[in-house]
Amino acid sequence: SNERAYNFSAGPSMLPLPVIEDVAANLANYKGCGESVMEMSHRSAEFKAILADAEQNLRDIMNIPDNYKVMFIQGGGTLQFAMVPLNLLRKSGKADYVITGTWAKKAAKEAEKFGDIKIVASSEDSTFSYIPKVNREDFRPDADYVHITLNNTIYGTHYPYIPDTGDIPLVADMSSCILSEEIDVTKFGLIYAGVQKNVAPSGIAVAIMREDLIGFAKENVPTYLDYKIHADNGSTYNTPNCFSIYVAGEVFKYIKDMGGVPAMHKLDVEKADKLYDYIDASSLYNCPVNKEDRSLMNVVFVTGNPDLDKKFVAEAKAANLHNLGGHRSIGGMRASIYNAMPMEGVDALIDFMKKFEEENK
Ligand code: PMP
Repeated sequence: SNERAYNFSAGPSMLPLPVIEDVAANLANYKGCGESVMEMSHRSAEFKAILADAEQNLRDIMNIPDNYKVMFIQGGGTLQFAMVPLNLLRKSGKADYVITGTWAKKAAKEAEKFGDIKIVASSEDSTFSYIPKVNREDFRPDADYVHITLNNTIYGTHYPYIPDTGDIPLVADMSSCILSEEIDVTKFGLIYAGVQKNVAPSGIAVAIMREDLIGFAKENVPTYLDYKIHADNGSTYNTPNCFSIYVAGEVFKYIKDMGGVPAMHKLDVEKADKLYDYIDASSLYNCPVNKEDRSLMNVVFVTGNPDLDKKFVAEAKAANLHNLGGHRSIGGMRASIYNAMPMEGVDALIDFMKKFEEENK
């Protein structure tokens, strides 16, 4: 087909079409410099400008204060699961994790290799359908950090609040919600996000880290896994993923031009409200997630009949609505509606859902 589908994949996911078209127009010869970004030296003046602009635009749209470093690191979200404990278990060797889904569990499991990890709360008892309430008293006073997963991609939940950890640095995995909502960066010691949902093609993670927390990795930590190496060398200690950084920069610029994160958020709320309202009113579909804790980005729903769910996903694909299957671990359906999913995509999905409901009563 020559037509672009509405792609509801949880990641990699849709990127803004104007960005893709601009990247395509510059693919073989970036802005007349005679080279593609895929080919150019990461030490060239052209790439240095791409990197500096990407960082500055991210700082602008997220209001990142000067005492935070911005790093682009290979290895996606998963490598951050290891880098966090390797760098932040710096005094007591203890860290507290809140478990709200598969990714939070994986992050904690990785950390357990390196320190004394306490699970302070978990919603696993109800298949992660809600976000536990945690307070300052729930954390060990000498914990080196507290880790949360702000948006849970698989279960479709999102924290309706930012936990108060007092003086303990709060670390947040924002892989599946970064740039969809305004975030007060100063509430966090470290924010990280794999980029392949709201930001860029896969291959890097963005890390935003308070300066005074950098530089505590032990001597035997591999060089690449020390945040200080990335911070001191402006994300070019070694050859970075130039192309992913470039596209990320284009997306940051695009968001800025569209009115910034508040404008993205407004549209995200409109899209998600429309879809949840339809699901809640329907007699075929059900969203198992606690209302207050629902994600704007990942909308999870089921019919209650796994065979019918499979039929839904297959017929939707034939109708140009791609990747609506739930994560392989839970099945059902999941519509990931990140920033780049237009309202038309949500409308097309709802129209299809109505038709499918009519045909499968
Ligand atoms: N954290 C979250 C919230 C995720 O959704 C994912 C992947 N979907 C990861 C971490 C892992 O990221 P990566 O695949 O980039 O390692």
